[in-house]
Amino acid sequence: MQGAFREHAAALRKCGCDAVEIRKPADLEAIDALIIPGGESTTIGKLLNDYGLTEPILAKARDGLPVFGTCAGAILVAKELVDSDQPRLGLMDIKVRRNAYGRQVDSFEVEVEIPVLGKEPFPAVFIRAPRIEDARPGVEVLARYREGIILVRQGNLLAATFHPELTEDLRLHRYFLRMVAERQ
Ligand code: GLN
Repeated sequence: MQGAFREHAAALRKCGCDAVEIRKPADLEAIDALIIPGGESTTIGKLLNDYGLTEPILAKARDGLPVFGTCAGAILVAKELVDSDQPRLGLMDIKVRRNAYGRQVDSFEVEVEIPVLGKEPFPAVFIRAPRIEDARPGVEVLARYREGIILVRQGNLLAATFHPELTEDLRLHRYFLRMVAERQ
């Protein structure tokens, strides 16, 4: 409904996967997994409520639907936020700080190590990015950058503070699709 959903759809199609856009509860019927894109988390959170999507997404996620939140999406799946009680899904046991990198460096790209994706570093694009400040027991920390956590997994849930859909590197989308295949 808002943010970088077209880029995610394009990345999924390059992986050989179908992608549909979700705007109403009925759209959720046919999906095997859900990506919540980067954008503006307050807007997306409000629209999820306005369109009646919050509860059906929560029910499906609790039932095992793989969900991947990127950037604003990582904010929306966090149970705990620093200094905000904005509407969200609150699925993952992580504590997230919005706009954590300050104004001076509000967007940047760095090569990060993500061991589950192999040896080759991953080009991580951060845009007014949040930072995961804490991951509770049960949450696997898959990557860090400086003092922050940038990629986590908790069972069927995955969250990245960067934008994998804005690079040509499809490894993180493929990793998520393997989570989907494992479930099936
Ligand atoms: N700063 C945005 C927010 O707080 C997230 C930025 C993004 O998704 N690129 O919602």
